[in-house]
Amino acid sequence: VKQIVLAARPSGMPDASVFRTENVELPPLQAGQVHIRGLYFSVDPYMRGRMNDAPSYIPPFQLNAPIEGAVVAEVLESQVMGYNPGDLITGGLLPWAMEAIVSAEAIKPIDTQSIPPSYYLGVLGSAGVTAYCGLVIIGRPKAGETVVVSGAAGAVGLVVGQIAKIMGCRVIGIAGSEEKIRQLKTEFGFDEAINYKTTPDMGAALAKACPKGIDIYFDNVGGTTTDAVFPLLNFQARVPVCGQISSYNDTATPPGPRILPQVVKRSILIQGFLVRYMKEYHAEAALHLTQWLKENKLKFAETVVEGFDRLPEAWLGLFSGQNMGKMIVKA
Ligand code: NDP
Repeated sequence: VKQIVLAARPSGMPDASVFRTENVELPPLQAGQVHIRGLYFSVDPYMRGRMNDAPSYIPPFQLNAPIEGAVVAEVLESQVMGYNPGDLITGGLLPWAMEAIVSAEAIKPIDTQSIPPSYYLGVLGSAGVTAYCGLVIIGRPKAGETVVVSGAAGAVGLVVGQIAKIMGCRVIGIAGSEEKIRQLKTEFGFDEAINYKTTPDMGAALAKACPKGIDIYFDNVGGTTTDAVFPLLNFQARVPVCGQISSYNDTATPPGPRILPQVVKRSILIQGFLVRYMKEYHAEAALHLTQWLKENKLKFAETVVEGFDRLPEAWLGLFSGQNMGKMIVKA
């Protein structure tokens, strides 16, 4: 079967040469294992960190071994009680392979009665749960507050903005294309949205959109976008730091925030978090997200790239904003 491996560790912005497609034979199925066929593959910004040979919260990808990520798959054969051919499953660390033999611990069943299977990679997967944990648990939004989210049209950002609206906040999104800005305002209920690629003075644009200042800044991108947001933070503002995609391909460490004197004076809370270490909130998040989807209070968007071979292209596209909502590859 076809699989995609890490062929080389990139320096700076990666290109397709860091990946290689190869054909391998599957080992025989053993007790405790299932044979799966990948249907939907998630591509995620955090995978860039795993390409570096550096210690982190998750070990680096191994050279010449398959890339791993979240996958929705169909069971073809099973040596595990409770899994039968035709069942749909998901797992967060499954190989980029058209078929694979995996252990029962790596997968869990999914309910696709009223939920599209691919949603388990997005709004009901890591992205949605991350949005919930960062905004609700760390940000603690109150009705009437102003929330700004960067990376607003991506998988996490779309959910952050809509939860903030559900909680009665004024919501401003920052994203990188006119079409994204239009959709945030017309389809996803954002009060304002600002294109960071075409707005010459982000500080002025944000000040205009946030006349009462900013109470929560949910940061997905960092860099100059975050520089523009910080001066507008209110007394006791909260800043859940979710991601810093603008620096993932940097070869040198970017300068630290210059805002720290104001962080003291305004009693601002800046807190980084990883959704994987907030497991105690995952069930609560899934419950609320599912409920909001069913009540049509929460909408989601996906950019689906067709074809297993296009996994590298889809992943690289995250760094130039090719996706609205969750970027997914359909095998
Ligand atoms: P997205 O769906 O948001 O895709 C990435 C988006 O980032 C692109 O669409 C692009 O949109 C934007 N982007 C790319 N390069 C830049 C840049 N240089 N400056 C500003 N924006 C840029 O991805 P996710 O929703 O999966 O992830 C969003 C963030 O959350 C990432 O930083 C990710 O690492 C982080 N994350 C953190 C988790 C945690 O546990 N802390 C868990 C999951 C994700 P645009 O067109 O607007 O530029």
